[in-house]
Amino acid sequence: MKDATIYFDNAATTPMDRRVARAMRPFLDGIYGNPSSLYRQGRLARQAVEKARGQVAALLQAASDEIIFTASGTEASNLALTGLVEPMAPGPVHIVTSRIEHPAVMATCAAQEQRGVSITRLPASPDGLIYPADLAAALRPTTKLVSIMAANNIVGTLQPIAELGRIAHSAGVLFHTDAVQAGGKLPLDLKSLSVDMLSLSAHKLYGPKGVGALYLRKGTNLLPIIHGGGQERGLRSATENVAGIVGFGCAAEIARASMAEETVKLVALQDRLIECLCSGQLPTYLIGHRYKRLPGHVCIGLAGMEGEAMHLLLELDAHGIAVSSGSACSSHHVDAPSETLLAMGFDPVRARGSLRIALGRFNTADEVEKFLELFTKIVRKLRPISSRSQETTKCREKRKK
Ligand code: PLP
Repeated sequence: MKDATIYFDNAATTPMDRRVARAMRPFLDGIYGNPSSLYRQGRLARQAVEKARGQVAALLQAASDEIIFTASGTEASNLALTGLVEPMAPGPVHIVTSRIEHPAVMATCAAQEQRGVSITRLPASPDGLIYPADLAAALRPTTKLVSIMAANNIVGTLQPIAELGRIAHSAGVLFHTDAVQAGGKLPLDLKSLSVDMLSLSAHKLYGPKGVGALYLRKGTNLLPIIHGGGQERGLRSATENVAGIVGFGCAAEIARASMAEETVKLVALQDRLIECLCSGQLPTYLIGHRYKRLPGHVCIGLAGMEGEAMHLLLELDAHGIAVSSGSACSSHHVDAPSETLLAMGFDPVRARGSLRIALGRFNTADEVEKFLELFTKIVRKLRPISSRSQETTKCREKRKK
């Protein structure tokens, strides 16, 4: 059922594709076997899980036995990082990551740091790129892992993971990438990339929530972080989420088939947004790289009206349009400046004033036009209020002096 919302927050999650829901249905109602059981019900479930494993592997040009299903993208990254370095402790272990990672990687690194692992966090350029030269300079004899995301979830900038992976490998260091945003939107050919581990999440590619996967290159050794009955080659114990995994497989297959066509459509819609929002007519500017970005992902700064980001978001919501505040990337940290923008060199005021518009498969040109019309009206209405309140603040500050 499609509601009336114009949903422009596809980087937070995507609506499930109807074809995915259809593929899952028999496993929610009828085929209930445990994939580890030997009788027919169990065998049906096992076949479905293995088919999905092949579909997810095909999205990455990987082999089926290189895919470990998890309960989320977050868990996949936890498994990659913790499962690799924990067995190495208490020896000297160093990880290189970036300052713009999603908390799935950032917080896992922080937890390892508490346990004595050294972490280097690379900064980003003003348009959100990690410089390969910074990575090369950060590597040490004790570096065991580099973890850098394929695409940033706030600003949408794509990282040069081919080059970053090559640099890590040429120093004999393993390379992990959080590809939760990139998966299904960009071609990721693991035959040619120097990537040993890669995290994916089904709900970012029109699949169900609560299912993820870790690609683990053959010969890369990890210890599990969840212990139990030995499912997923002993790396992720627990009875498999059969319906969710089936949905993930179906979503991966659709993404593989439709990626090229979808990219053309999303880039055209994204360019229309950038042309209108960042051409000087409005006090808004593009954040992130102009071209090296996720298709359909537009992050904009609100010049001189940074304090109005939440106001704008709520006004848009009142008109049925869902976008995200780049600063408050989650409702758990509502007024905090974005760590990603701070790492890109924004000052805390500018790092609070951004909006993320993430288009997806089901968005249309008509929706983009409706958004632009409404957004322009709201900004023109808010701007005088915003400049008055900034003037008042400036006056108060002057009087204090
Ligand atoms: N990594 C990135 C880059 C993300 O954008 C997200 C979700 O927003 C995650 C990881 C977490 O994925 P999940 O919600 O499946 O745990």
